[in-house]
Amino acid sequence: MLTLGCHLSASKGFLHMGKEAVSIGANTFQFFTRNPRGFKVKELDIDDCEKFTEFWKEHDGGKIIAHAPYTLNACSADEKTRELAYMIMSDDLERLEHVPGTYYNFHPGSHVKQGVEVGTDYIVGLLNRIIRPEQKTIVLLETMAGKGSEIGRTFEELKAIIDRVDCKNKIGVCLDSCHVFDGGYDIVNDLDGVFEEFDKVIGLDKLYAVHLNDSKNPIGSHKDRHELIGKGNIGMEAITAFINHKAVRDLPIVLETPNDLPGYKQEIEMLRSVYKE
Ligand code: FE
Ligand code: FE
Ligand code: ZN
Repeated sequence: MLTLGCHLSASKGFLHMGKEAVSIGANTFQFFTRNPRGFKVKELDIDDCEKFTEFWKEHDGGKIIAHAPYTLNACSADEKTRELAYMIMSDDLERLEHVPGTYYNFHPGSHVKQGVEVGTDYIVGLLNRIIRPEQKTIVLLETMAGKGSEIGRTFEELKAIIDRVDCKNKIGVCLDSCHVFDGGYDIVNDLDGVFEEFDKVIGLDKLYAVHLNDSKNPIGSHKDRHELIGKGNIGMEAITAFINHKAVRDLPIVLETPNDLPGYKQEIEMLRSVYKE
């Protein structure tokens, strides 16, 4: 069974997202933990968390993904900015304990002229401060498009972080199809080769989730502009092969395409129709 869904607004709580997901044929979804600008967060509604957990179990829902604010920068040159990332991410993880088994995805950050090594040191330092062995959430590093000085464009950069995280069973990767394509990995003509590379460098056992997006730009353009499924430079044929590939076919797959709810519903239907059970 394909575990497929899309990004949803968290403004009305977990149970609302769960119901919305079910209404569009989704059995997973992603949401921002808080407003990316201003970082405001509502008081945690534990009753809502419990109701959702029950509802989701009843509906056979898969793993869901919490996305950290993308405006955070865990490897900024500015100490205050790094400390803000620490505060927000540790608070997010504390809250997510009330929705057990969720994945927590974040963008590793931009090193801005400090170099990849310094940036990596900061990211590792932060992760080793926020990840506790007893937590129920697995933290995922997202593969990045390589815009500006983003860390995480190559599998090697992600591996360098994972290698130094103390709690190895609490850290993994979320692969974004648009980002890896933008980063130069040819998932259109050499899908097997890309996953072999991932396996060789990081290990496919570290791949926990997928962001499924087409790309507005050609391979290697480092732009990070998502396109509707089948309407971009990756295309429907490659996306069909991608979701059926053994490396991802059993993982939660989340759409982040430029869509409203009816648009997501259509994409979910279309993708389910090309998935080989
Ligand atoms: Fe992201
Ligand atoms: Fe993404
Ligand atoms: Zn993106």
